[in-house]
Amino acid sequence: MAQMNTSDIELIVKQVLESLRTNSSAGSSQPQPPKAYPKSGRVAMLTALEHFELKEYPIPPLGDDDILVKVEGCGVCGTDAHEFKRDPFGLIPVVLGHEGTGEIIAMGKNVKTDSAGKPVNIGDKVVTCMIFKDNPDITMFDLNKQNVGGADVYGLLPDDDIHHNGWFADYIVIRGGSTFFNVSDLSLDLRILIEPAAVLIHAVERAKTTGILRFNSRVVVQGCGPIGLLCIAVLRTMGVENIVAVDGEDKRLQFAREMGANASVNFKNHKGIDELTQAVKDAFGGYPADFGFQCTGSSVAHSNIYKFIRNGGGLCELGFFVNGGDASINPHFDMCAKEITIVGSWVYNLRDYPTTFDFLKRAKAIGLPVEKLITHRFPLEQINEALQTNLRMEGLKVAIING
Ligand SMILES: [Zn+2]
Repeated sequence: MAQMNTSDIELIVKQVLESLRTNSSAGSSQPQPPKAYPKSGRVAMLTALEHFELKEYPIPPLGDDDILVKVEGCGVCGTDAHEFKRDPFGLIPVVLGHEGTGEIIAMGKNVKTDSAGKPVNIGDKVVTCMIFKDNPDITMFDLNKQNVGGADVYGLLPDDDIHHNGWFADYIVIRGGSTFFNVSDLSLDLRILIEPAAVLIHAVERAKTTGILRFNSRVVVQGCGPIGLLCIAVLRTMGVENIVAVDGEDKRLQFAREMGANASVNFKNHKGIDELTQAVKDAFGGYPADFGFQCTGSSVAHSNIYKFIRNGGGLCELGFFVNGGDASINPHFDMCAKEITIVGSWVYNLRDYPTTFDFLKRAKAIGLPVEKLITHRFPLEQINEALQTNLRMEGLKVAIING
C-alpha cells in the first residue's frame, strides 16, 4: 500500500466534507454564482378577448425583499380560459398565468428563506402562492385559517408599472410580502401541477372534517378532468383503496384507473339516474358510496351525486370554481332522510402547499403517473393556441413551457 502524505489526507477530508455538504443540501438551496441581470423580458399580455400579445418590458431594479425568477413553465387553468374568453374579472390588459414555476436569478438582500422557512438561494426553483394583504389570517403561514379567497395571486393582477406580474412570461418579479416556496426537489412537470394539486389537498382536508372518510371507505369521484384525476391520486396516496370514477369519456376513465380508481362508470352508457345509481353501486360490489367528491361544474352532476351516497354518508362539492348556475336537490330524500354531511371546498390555503409537495413525491413514489396529466405543451409564442386548446377541452392539462 502506497504511503499517503499529509496533503493527500487533507484533500480526501476536503472531498468528503464537500460531498457531505452537497448531499445534505441536495434538493434545497445550493448557492450559485449570480446570473447576469436581464435588461428586459417578454410577457404575454391579454389585451383583448381571446387575444394575447407578446410585449417586451424592462426588468425593474429589485427591492431588498424582491425576487426575480426566470420562468420555466406554467399550466393553463380553467380560470385563465374564463378570463381569456370573457374577462369576467375585468382585468384586461393583464398578464395571466398562476400555475407557474421557475428559477431564482436574483434576489434582494433581505430574502433568506421561503414562506415555510426553508433557505433560498440563486438557482433554486420556486412557486408562488398568495400575495400579502392586510389580513393576518391569509398571510401568516402557521396560523392560516382561510383559503385564498380575498387574497391576490400572481397571474390575476391588474397591469402596473412593473408589468412582470404573471407566469405567462420570460420573467416574473416576486415582490416582498408575497408567499413563495422553494421546490427545487420537484421536477418541472410536478412543479407545474402544484397549484391544481393544492386544490385537492384542500378538498380532502375539508372532506376529512366530516369524520366519514376512512381508509376503507367506498369513495365515488365524479368528473375525471385534471381536478377529479388529482382527487383520485390524493385519495390513493393516503391509502383509500376503494374508488369508483364517474365520467362521460372512456379515455378519461382509463386514466382514472391508472391514477388509482379500481372501477369506473361511463354515465353515457346508463339511461336515467336510477340506472346510473345502480351502475355505481355495482361498481362497489352492490353498495352505495360512503363518500363522494363532486369534481364537475355541471348542475346535473351535483343533483345526481346524492343518489350514489349511502345514508349517513358524506359529500365534498368542489366542482363549482365559478358560478355554474343553480342545481336542484330534494331536501327530504337527498339531505334529511339521508343525514348526509356536506362540505364545500374552494381553492386552498397557504398551509396546503407544503402538504401538496409531499403528496406529489408520494404519488410518484407509489408509481401514479401524475405527470401524464400534462398532455399539451406550447412555447410562449403560441399562447393564443394554448388557450384555444384549453377552451376546446382537448387533452387534460395544457402548459406553456419556456425554451
Ligand atoms: Zn388554477
